[in-house]
Amino acid sequence: MAEDTIFGKIIRGEIPCDKVYEDDRYFAFYDINPAAPTHVLVIPKKPIPKVSDAEEADEALLGGLVLCANKVARQLGITEGGYRMVINCGKAANQEVFHLHLHLLGGRDFTWPPG
Ligand code: AMP
Repeated sequence: MAEDTIFGKIIRGEIPCDKVYEDDRYFAFYDINPAAPTHVLVIPKKPIPKVSDAEEADEALLGGLVLCANKVARQLGITEGGYRMVINCGKAANQEVFHLHLHLLGGRDFTWPPG
């Protein structure tokens, strides 16, 4: 069983957030420390700690996560300008919260390679 995290508390409404989307499988809210004019975290309600912990049975959930982020991007009006999706996994990627989340970043131009 995955450890509870601050994102688990946000999903359950125990900690406030600026919510932008919710359905039965996903939840999305603005990042508290935005790295772009639009910076939303899209998370599955299922508490998978890291993307590397995902299993075969999570295939549809992970695909749905990307489609959900696309839906949120349309909702927030960043589709035409373009956006970046980021999933940090583990130490080298500086993952801070161990509840799988997809960063949806938009509203500015991005460089490559990322820092
Ligand atoms: P990561 O480094 O990929 O684990 O990203 C964690 C993200 O969660 C960071 O961008 C934080 O700014 C963000 N974050 C942490 N606590 C909160 C919170 N209470 N509400 C919204 N975003 C948060």
